[in-house]
Order: sequence, then structure tokens, then C-alpha cells
Amino acid sequence: MTAHATRVLVLNSGSSSVKYQLLDMRDSSRLALGLVERIGEQDSRVTHTTLTPEGSEKRERKGPVADHTEALKVVSEELSRDGLGLDSPELLAVGHRVLHGGIELTDPTVVTDEVMATLERLRPLGPLHMPANIAGIRTARELRPDLPQVAVFDTAFHTTMPEYAYRYAIDVETADAHRIRRYGFHGTSHAYVSRRAAELLGRDPAEVNVIVLHLGNGASASAVAGGRCVDTSMGLTPLEGLVMGTRSGDIDPAVTFHLKRVAGMSVDEIDELLNKKSGLVGLCGDNDMREIRRRIDAGDERARLAFDIYIHRLKKYIGAYSAVLGRVDAVVFTAGVGENAAEVREAAVAGLEPLGLAVDAARNTVRSGEARIISPDDARVVVAVVPTDEELEIAQQTFALVGGARTVDA
Ligand code: AMP
Repeated sequence: MTAHATRVLVLNSGSSSVKYQLLDMRDSSRLALGLVERIGEQDSRVTHTTLTPEGSEKRERKGPVADHTEALKVVSEELSRDGLGLDSPELLAVGHRVLHGGIELTDPTVVTDEVMATLERLRPLGPLHMPANIAGIRTARELRPDLPQVAVFDTAFHTTMPEYAYRYAIDVETADAHRIRRYGFHGTSHAYVSRRAAELLGRDPAEVNVIVLHLGNGASASAVAGGRCVDTSMGLTPLEGLVMGTRSGDIDPAVTFHLKRVAGMSVDEIDELLNKKSGLVGLCGDNDMREIRRRIDAGDERARLAFDIYIHRLKKYIGAYSAVLGRVDAVVFTAGVGENAAEVREAAVAGLEPLGLAVDAARNTVRSGEARIISPDDARVVVAVVPTDEELEIAQQTFALVGGARTVDA
């Protein structure tokens, strides 16, 4: 008997971690998920959860995982224990989250040797993430050479930006010679959330203008007109834009010259300062919004100021993207902070009534994992919370590209 292979393994390889989910695309259900953390250290940890209609079973194992190659082997071993390994005939493809597709790779792409060469060329545009992404794809190809490996790019959704939005106002030749432009990131999330927001409004995405605020440890905003991204806050790298957990977001570029010339810092030190020691953690020592709220409630002034700076920047982007879009149908909050921190949503929208924005206090404080509207019924602009699901989006894009292409004996 012949059956279709319907499972997609989604791999999200970060600088020191690999997150994974195995989905069955017949009904988008999750069969297993897990995380390999602290790769390259002695105390690496693997957490694996198997999901069945009857419930879930969690396992944990500790011990060194040397690199991303070994991490993926561990993932395959864990999946194999439940008969779901990389060698399983029901596996249709692996979908890889890849940080950067540059201007060359704008759609989900089946990885070939040529694509691998392009990814290698793009490596300098994502020095933290690209090596891990590339290692993940390489190992998966080695483990199952016959299996389609699909790369889904964090930059892809933003390639519809018009040139006046993506081009920086610097010398054109210098910019083009070094591929300097705004690329934008979190694209999979912005795509998924803006489409779900249109569904929540009961309207066709092609008719709806949405501002998406992806507020996680990394944070970015996007302006989406009729389903197409027209502007986004992250730039050449994920450093630009909103205040984030550890990144500064927008800053006068001259601050970097000043740090080099006057403070005597090296380029690597400045990179580290702006990417890892800035944002909320730089301002108050904590990057977790829960802890910051707790400190504010205890009267901590530094935490209060960090929160106010975070909110001020967010408001500026809501205002800017209202101007970019002209008509806004919805402002949507997503990711760790956006989905959970009612105080952030309330503060970001406070005072923006002239733009048609308001939240209903009772709706805003309901805790729920569902997509929901939090503005009053008579509001001109819908304010909503839409939990993001990057893994599902990657699985769906992977399945759309290769689904039905392979059959297996069952
Ligand atoms: P993410 O990168 O999307 O996983 O988001 C992680 C961030 O979400 C954390 O650093 C916290 O700041 C924030 N977060 C997670 N849960 C909550 C919560 N219940 N309340 C407020 N912030 C939260």
C-alpha cells in the first residue's frame, strides 16, 4: 500500500541552541518538539516532548553536545526512540529557519549545492546565526541525502518593501557594493501574524492594513498593506529599530565612532555592547519583562525608566507606521512580551486615541493562548493579540513547496 509522507521536521538552529518540532501536515498537529541548549558547553541539555492525542511525555538528558552537527544527531536519536526519526519513511521534508536570504533567496527554497554556496556568501550578513543555520542544513543533508531540505528565510516576507523604504540614505555605490540595505527579520512571524489578524477581523488579507509588533527578546515592527510588507524596523541586521532585551535598537551611528575614537573601544567590543549589553538589560540589568514589572511595582526607578524608554520607542513606530500605511485596520501584538505583558500593550496604546487606538482594560488583562481582540467594540482600529507560530508557518511553507511530491510504502 502506498501512502503520502506527510510529516515535516522544523529546525530552528540558533547560535547555541537547536529548537525543533515535528508536525503532521494532514492536520498540522504536533507529534514531538524539543530543544537542545548550551551547545558547545559541558552542561548542554536536551529536552524532548512527545505529543499524542492521549497527552504528552517529556524527557530530559544532560551532557556535552559539542556542536550543531552533534545536536542534530541527538535530535534524530530522540525522535527515533518514538519511531519518528530522520530515517522514518513518513518524513516528507525538513524545514529550516534561516536568518538571511539576502536579495537572492526570497522564497522558500529546496536546498541544493548551489543554494549552500549562496548561504555561505551570505554568512557575513548574519555572523551569529548563519553558521548555525548552515551547519543544521548540512548535517540534515548528510543524515538523509534523499530528503528535501527546505530553507525558509527570516528576511523573505520583507522583500516586498519598496526601494524608498529599504534603501538607506547613504552613498548608493558604497551601499550596493557591500549589500547594505534594510532587509528586516522575524519575517515568518510577521507573515503568519498579519494573516491571522485578517482572519480574526473576518476579512481578506489583501484588503487589510496591519501594524505587527513582534515583541520578544528580539523585537521588530512591520507595516503590512494588503498582505505585503511595506516597511519594517530591523535593518541590515536585527540590531535596528525597537528597544529589545539586549539590543539597543535605533541609535545615532555616530555613537559608534565616538565609542571608538573617544572611549577607545574596538569594533568587536562595540558590537558586543550594542547587541548583548544594551536594550533593557543595558538600561536596568534585566531583560525579562516579568522581572522589570516586578521591580517597577517595588518602586525601582531604573526599571521604570527602562520600561518608559521601551514604550516611547514602540509608540514612535506605531505613529510612524500609521503614517506609512495611511489607514490602519489593526495593530497586533505578538511574541513573548506582546502576547503576555498586558501592561506593555496598555502603555503602548495609551494616548494614541487620536489615531483611533484604544484597549479595553478587561479584555487586555484576560490571559489566553488564543488570538483575541482587546480594543473596545466601537474602536476605529482593532487592537489584537495574536500568538505567533513560526514553526507552523515554516512547516506550511515547506509542505506547500514539496508536499505530495513523495510517496512511501506503508
Ligand atoms: P520570545 O523571544 O518571544 O520567546 O520572548 C521572550 C521574552 O518574553 C522574555 O524575555 C520576557 O521578557 C517576555 N515574557 C515571557 N513571558 C512573559 C510574561 N508572562 N509576562 C511578561 N513578559 C513575558
